[in-house]
Amino acid sequence: MIRIEDVLDIYSNNRPDGDVLQIQKAYVFANMMHEYQKRKSGLPFITHPLNVAYNIAENKLDTESVVAALLHDVVEDTDASKDQVEELFGKDVAGIVDGLTKLSALENVDISERKAANFKKLLIAIAKDPRVLIIKLADRLDNMRTLEFMKPEKQKLIAGETLEIYAPLAHAIGMARIKNELEDLSFRYLYPEEYETVSNEAIEKESIYADDMKQIRDVLEHEMKANGVRCIIQSRIKHKFSIFRKMKTQDITLDEVYDFLAFRIILTDNDPNECYKVIGILHGLWTYIPHRWRDFVSQPKENGYRSVHTTLIYEDGVFFEVQVRTKEMHEIAEQGIAAHWQYKQDRTESFEESRLYQVLSQTILDLKEKTSDEFLTDLAQGLKDISHGITVLTPRGRTIALPDQATPVDFAYSIHTEVGNHCVGAKVDGRLVPLHTELHDGNIVEILTNPNAKPSLDWLKLVRTSRAKHKIRATYRALEREEKTADGREMLEKAMRKNKIPFSQMDVEKISKAYKAYKISKVEELYFLVGNGTISINKVLGIIEPSLIRKKQAISLGRKPTEAGNFEKRVRIQGLDNLLVTRARCCNAIFGDPIIGYLTKLKGISVHRADCENLKQGRIDPARLIDVEWVEDPNHSFLIEVIVITEDITGMLARLTDVFDSMNLNLRKVQGESFRVKNQAQFRFTVQISSREELNRVLIRIKGTRGVLSVWRKK
Ligand code: MN
Repeated sequence: MIRIEDVLDIYSNNRPDGDVLQIQKAYVFANMMHEYQKRKSGLPFITHPLNVAYNIAENKLDTESVVAALLHDVVEDTDASKDQVEELFGKDVAGIVDGLTKLSALENVDISERKAANFKKLLIAIAKDPRVLIIKLADRLDNMRTLEFMKPEKQKLIAGETLEIYAPLAHAIGMARIKNELEDLSFRYLYPEEYETVSNEAIEKESIYADDMKQIRDVLEHEMKANGVRCIIQSRIKHKFSIFRKMKTQDITLDEVYDFLAFRIILTDNDPNECYKVIGILHGLWTYIPHRWRDFVSQPKENGYRSVHTTLIYEDGVFFEVQVRTKEMHEIAEQGIAAHWQYKQDRTESFEESRLYQVLSQTILDLKEKTSDEFLTDLAQGLKDISHGITVLTPRGRTIALPDQATPVDFAYSIHTEVGNHCVGAKVDGRLVPLHTELHDGNIVEILTNPNAKPSLDWLKLVRTSRAKHKIRATYRALEREEKTADGREMLEKAMRKNKIPFSQMDVEKISKAYKAYKISKVEELYFLVGNGTISINKVLGIIEPSLIRKKQAISLGRKPTEAGNFEKRVRIQGLDNLLVTRARCCNAIFGDPIIGYLTKLKGISVHRADCENLKQGRIDPARLIDVEWVEDPNHSFLIEVIVITEDITGMLARLTDVFDSMNLNLRKVQGESFRVKNQAQFRFTVQISSREELNRVLIRIKGTRGVLSVWRKK
């Protein structure tokens, strides 16, 4: 268990001139605030901020970071306020703690919305101060290390989020050590069986090659000394999740994972040129695999990682990788952005140049126009894209970084939104190619545009960048809005002409008063709401000309709901008169349905649909079945229930009631509910219908309504 003394020890070791007093003060405050609180494990809560603070001190971060780590949960979980933290520990610490505090006023909001809102807050704080991200990652790491005390459903949820968002975030800022541990912990909870298998195989393989590793190490040590290279040699076993990922994505066995056995040579003299000298020595000692020799010293990875890698063959079938790097490169490889704080006080400038910063700020900017689910998916995608990627060139030689498998459409949107929106074709290395062509490293890409061209929703399938996805969606929405507005105007004009109302009576002032809830300020807005089905035409007409509504109601009242007495007259039974006839509730037959009667003991003859489940053999006495037939009577109608499953979008109900309305059908009851998880809604309409034929017409009309997924008559 980590104690405050441990935090102070490692902190003053790494920062001899640091402000120990401030950290002690933060500890006393946090301990007081969290007093009596316990973790799920039963340990005092303060152990959690202590673990986080230890990790932060271990990463050699500054005083404010360690203080903020100790205080990171006080505002969220105790009575302490942001102002109090600011007063005691200053503005910067309060800013970091606030960035790490979830929004509290979100209790009644849907989970994905709440998640998105909290993520947005976190990302904004990170963009302002990257230390927020480092502490957040240390926080998540401690929560993952103690995940065993959570319920299994919660474990999977947290592990999934860690793997999809936090591990990629750690990778993006180069914090490989945290990233690897987060991945392995998530792996264990998400795929327990595979985790077992990979662990066992790895342990086995390690013991098989233990002797070889020892011999290689001896040679390395001897050769480095003989050549005057001052270094530390580490042997490294690839972390479990990356073994698993490699085996899965490349469909290979553990024996084909060439970098399973590996050494690191860390050069203590900090001279980058020495890396190449060491590689030269290694290639003289053993055979190397040419395509696996990579130079990340002259071409660092996106997240700042630098090293030279080479894979060597010790003897038949024994491959091992060697990574050569200076001490400084090593620190950056393990701790990423955190390592920068050791050398310079303020590195926010370099953070702002990073692609992570660009992805974060773009994701945050775009949030307004996205749904919460889109936001979270795009964020995960954007983070994934940072870790892999290609660089292509404009005809003028400007470099554009894109994710793997990006297409000319991605490229077009990276140049400018308008180039993307009007893109019609592309040339890659001078040759005309289709827009779905996958781009490769070093391609020179030129985009052909046409001012009349518009983006198509199909493009969403062929773009990889979240920027392009977002722009396509946004442009599509704007175009759709234009279209719906024109539709709505046309619909209103037509309806008014039909009812002989002059179009000039479309007084938006009058209408907007009646529709305060819709906040209509422009007549175009009204057209749009009519066009997309939020407001029904009949309602608008009713406001302009109330007499129209009364007329309509009069028609509806003419059709009374069916009663048992009425039903009796609708069915003829051959040879039998004066028998009580009822409509069976199980199948609700209507005029036009094939029907059959069943003689009940107490309720006379009940009329079923011929295909009713309750008439199936074994359930009834066939001797009691009686032939019945319909009597035509256009003045009578039947109550029937129609069930509609739709996409969960606004205006759906108005769209559906419009269908019934336009067919002059009387609705007796409407029930609706939405299933957030599936993004679907279900509506139940109890409607008066005169015949099966009429019902079929309604079902077809509803089926053809935009947003409807399925519709059926209740059995
Ligand atoms: Mn925490």
